[in-house]
Amino acid sequence: MPGLVNPGGSTRSTAVPKATREHIDNLKTAVRSALGIPDHTTVLIQQLACTEPGCPPVETVVAVLSTPRTVWKLPSATPDLTIAELRRAIEEHPEGHDHADHD
Ligand SMILES: [Zn+2]
Repeated sequence: MPGLVNPGGSTRSTAVPKATREHIDNLKTAVRSALGIPDHTTVLIQQLACTEPGCPPVETVVAVLSTPRTVWKLPSATPDLTIAELRRAIEEHPEGHDHADHD
């Protein structure tokens, strides 16, 4: 059936690995416990390409949609981002942090 999207097939998907749902859930849980925020606070975990000089090609953006909104950018692809790395970023910069390790 030409022209149909082929889920799981070898169409030109990028070389960037995707994090599993479970890994993302674990990261969200780590964010909530590190910050002591309730389960109903929305936490977003997104893998994004970054084009800034000195950046890795793929970063993970963590956003907590509370007031004020807090965002961390971590220089790892989401599947490679560990709970420990995420917790350390939050503990060192509880107010949020853009582009760790860029100097
Ligand atoms: Zn960047």
